[in-house]
Amino acid sequence: MAAEVARRRSFAIVSHPDAGKTTLTEKFLLYGGAVHLAGSVKARRNQRSTTSDWLELEQKRGISISSTVLQFEYNGHRINLLDTPGHQDFSEDTYRVLTAVDAAIMVLDAGKGIEDQTLKLFEVCRHRGVPIFTFINKMDRPAREPLDLLDELERVLSINAYPVNWPLGAGKEFKGVWDRHTKMAHLFERVPGGAYRSPEFTGSLADPLIREKLDPQTYETVCEEVEMLEGAGTTFNAEDVLHAKTTPVYFGSALNNFGVELLLDGFLEHSTPPTPRQSMDGATIEPHHPSFSGFVFKIQANMDPQHRDRVAFVRVVSGKFERNMAVTHVQSGKKMRLSNANKIFGSDRETVEEAYPGDVVGIVGKSGFSIGDTLTEDAAIRYDEIPYFAPECFSYIESPEPVQFKRFRTGLEQLLQEGVMQGYELVNATRATPLLGAAGPLQFEIVQYRLKAEYGADSRLEAAPWTVTRWIDPTVEAARLKAPHGVRLAHDRLQRLVVLCESPWALRYFAEQNEGVQLSSLPF
Ligand code: GDP
Repeated sequence: MAAEVARRRSFAIVSHPDAGKTTLTEKFLLYGGAVHLAGSVKARRNQRSTTSDWLELEQKRGISISSTVLQFEYNGHRINLLDTPGHQDFSEDTYRVLTAVDAAIMVLDAGKGIEDQTLKLFEVCRHRGVPIFTFINKMDRPAREPLDLLDELERVLSINAYPVNWPLGAGKEFKGVWDRHTKMAHLFERVPGGAYRSPEFTGSLADPLIREKLDPQTYETVCEEVEMLEGAGTTFNAEDVLHAKTTPVYFGSALNNFGVELLLDGFLEHSTPPTPRQSMDGATIEPHHPSFSGFVFKIQANMDPQHRDRVAFVRVVSGKFERNMAVTHVQSGKKMRLSNANKIFGSDRETVEEAYPGDVVGIVGKSGFSIGDTLTEDAAIRYDEIPYFAPECFSYIESPEPVQFKRFRTGLEQLLQEGVMQGYELVNATRATPLLGAAGPLQFEIVQYRLKAEYGADSRLEAAPWTVTRWIDPTVEAARLKAPHGVRLAHDRLQRLVVLCESPWALRYFAEQNEGVQLSSLPF
C-alpha cells in the first residue's frame, strides 16, 4: 500500500485554449511509453463518427464533452492525468477537476504569456493550495523575453517564479535549455513531426560543441543571462513549491519534444504523492487510512451511446478500492456494492479491479450521486469537497409546455442537485422563473439537452444580463446594502447572499457604494 501511494501522482494541466495542453499530454504519453495512447488522444479529436445524440451535440459544437482521465507509467511512477475541458466547453467541470488533483502544470504560450482562462484556473489552484508547475511552451515560435514572462508570472499571479531551466535562443534559434541545477545545456534535435524522442546532446556552456551549435548572438545572450541568474542568488525551495508559494518554471516546445522530459522529471521529483483530505468532523484522512474512501468530483451523463447511463467519477482518497466492495454512500446513508467500476478512456471502458489513493474510478449506472458525495467503508468519513465557482453566465429557464411542467420541475431539481449548474433566487424577485448560473454557456445547452433526453421536458432559455458574481460577507444583511443600476442581489441554493453584476464596472461601483463589505469570488 505504502509503495503504491508513494509512486502515484495525480495532476491536471491548466491552460488557455491553444497554448498546447493537448500536445503536451500526447508527449507525456509518448515519454511514458504509452505510444498507442498518444495516438488515441489525437484520434479523440477526429472521433466524431459515433451516432449518439450526445455526440451529436458535441459534433454540432465541434467540441469534446467527454473528458478523460489518463493513466500511464513513467519511470516507476503511476501517473493520473485528469483532463480539464477547455475551449468552448469551459465549465464548472473544468474547475471541479481541480478538486481531485494534487498538483497542476500550467502551460503558457511563450508568445502570449498569461491569458484569461489560465488566470481563472490558476486562482482556483491557489485557493486550494495546489502546487503549480509552469511550462512555457512554443519557444520555437516568436517568443516574449524570458525575463518579461517571469516578471508577468510574479506580477499577475503574485507567486515566486523560479526558472529551473533557461531557454537557449527563441523562435528558429531555439536549440534547447540550460538546466540550472546541473548547470548543463541540453541541446535537442528536431525530429519529423515530433513523433519520437528528440535526440539530446548535453554539455556545459563552455563546451565548444555547445558553443558551435548556437549562433554567436544567442550564445552571448545566454551566457549573460545565465550569469545573471547565478548572481541573483535565489535558491530553490522545495517546501515553497509544495505550499504553492513558488512555481518552478520550465521552458520548451511540446510540439518538438524540447524540454518535455526535463519538465516531467522535475515535476515527479518536486510534486507530492496523493495528499490527505479533510473530513467534516475535522479529522485528516491520510491515504494509508485502512478504510477505502473517496468523493465524487464529476458526473457525466450519457457518455455511452448504447446506454443512457451516468458515470460518477470518484477520486480515491484513502485505502484500497476493490471491485464489488460494499461501501456507504454517506449523503443518503445507503449501503451499496460497487460492481460497476470502470477506468474510462474516451468512449472505451475497462473494468477496474483495484485502485489506490490518487486514482480515479468511474462508477457507472448508479443514480442518486451528486457532486461532492462521499463513498466509504468507514461511514464516519464525510468529505466537504463541493466546489462553488462564481458564475459568469445567467439564464432564466422555463417550460413552454404546461403539460410537461411537472417533469420539467423534477428534472431541473435533479440536475441542480447533481451540480450541473447553480440555481439562484433574486432578492425581491418579480417573477417566479428559475434563474440558473454557470461558468460557461455550454452548461445551459447541456441542461436543455438532458431535460429533454432524460425527463422528456422541453425548455426555453432567456439570457439574463449578469456576468460577474461575488459572494457577500455572510454577516451582512441584504436590506443594508445599496444596489445601484446594473446590480442585483440574490441568494444561492444554500441561501448565501451574492451580488450579480452586469459588468466589472458595475461591481466596482457596488463595492464603492457599500464600502467595507467583503466580497469574494468563492463562497465565504
Ligand atoms: P490546446 O488547445 O491547449 O490543447 O492546444 P493544442 O495542443 O491543441 O495546440 C494548439 C496548436 O499549437 C496546435 O496547432 C499545436 O500543433 C500547436 N503547438 C503546440 N505546441 C507547440 C509548440 O511547442 N510549438 C509550436 N510551434 N506549435 C505548437
